[in-house]
Amino acid sequence: MFRAILLEKNENGTQARVAELDESQLPEGDVTVRVAYSTLNYKDALAITGKGPVVRSWPMVPGIDFAGVVEASAHPDYKPGDRVVLNGWGVGEGHWGGLAEKARVKGDWLVPLQAPFTARDAMAIGTAGYTAMLCVMALERYGITPNQGDILVTGAAGGVGSVAVALLAKLGYRVVAMTGRPEEAGYLQELGAAEVIPRGDYSEPGRPLARERWAGAVDVVGGQVLANVCASLKYRGAVAACGLAGGMSLPATVAPFILRGVALLGVDSVMCPRAERLEAWRRLAQDLDPGKLAGLTEEVAFDDVIPTAGKLIAGSQRGRVVVPIAPD
Ligand code: NAP
Repeated sequence: MFRAILLEKNENGTQARVAELDESQLPEGDVTVRVAYSTLNYKDALAITGKGPVVRSWPMVPGIDFAGVVEASAHPDYKPGDRVVLNGWGVGEGHWGGLAEKARVKGDWLVPLQAPFTARDAMAIGTAGYTAMLCVMALERYGITPNQGDILVTGAAGGVGSVAVALLAKLGYRVVAMTGRPEEAGYLQELGAAEVIPRGDYSEPGRPLARERWAGAVDVVGGQVLANVCASLKYRGAVAACGLAGGMSLPATVAPFILRGVALLGVDSVMCPRAERLEAWRRLAQDLDPGKLAGLTEEVAFDDVIPTAGKLIAGSQRGRVVVPIAPD
């Protein structure tokens, strides 16, 4: 038997509880992992609270991330005792996920735990941190360099935002953090933000072209905020867009694209090819300050995951959440 968060659907919507499950219930897969740590991302919180259509089959064990130790493997790349990490691939959405003591997945979805990270570090980073790195890599690939001007990070006090602020500051960019929580200004400055601005500046409809302010941006909010970010990018600036915490819509005009040549760079972590994942983890090992990672991480007990999901959706959880399951 093993413990897991279990999501079931009935006429009242999604019901989440801690359940005892039998190993025979685990889904198909060629590698079985004893989960050491998992985490809570925005998508996990949407699944657990039922606030977004994340879950594609029922019942579901949520958790789009886990780090742990291989228990059994029929995959040529993995043997018992190997330390592995999983991010995405639809796990926790259509295939049972990492908020459980055991997981069974396709070995092709795993990556080895990379030095110097521990399983706890890997989950403190999680999909949110790995996506922040993908956003930074997208801006770099587009040619945005620190000497071109300020970089805006929206939803900065959340998981993706906090890691993006820390990474960009370490890489020498001048980072401006946008938040709806002015009380988090000190926290954001500790992570490396040179300036903190209120979300309210960007949450109302603005002009199609605003003052040119940002050389680049990382956006986790979407909606009106992303539209206003596009309108205030400098000539040939770029925004890496990965989130929808403020909405799915994009009430923008084409003006910034055709008059300023700005770029909207879409970032997806779920189906991201393996080579780019490995590069993102290599870059995290190189460019994420361990002290900053510790400062943005909060540990939440397995039995407190369900209420914490509600806090995340309400926008009142700061930074990253790590969930110890069978820590070594
Ligand atoms: P999170 O920790 O909950 O952070 C989201 C942040 O967005 C909040 O902390 C808040 O920051 C801001 N926010 C919350 N509600 C808002 C609202 N109604 N309007 C405007 N801003 C709001 O979540 P996360 O794990 O960092 O994920 C952030 C977003 O990225 C989510 O939409 C998630 O689905 C997406 N994501 C996408 C990928 C991908 O592969 N594309 C991967 C990871 C995450 P402030 O309080 O500082 O304003």
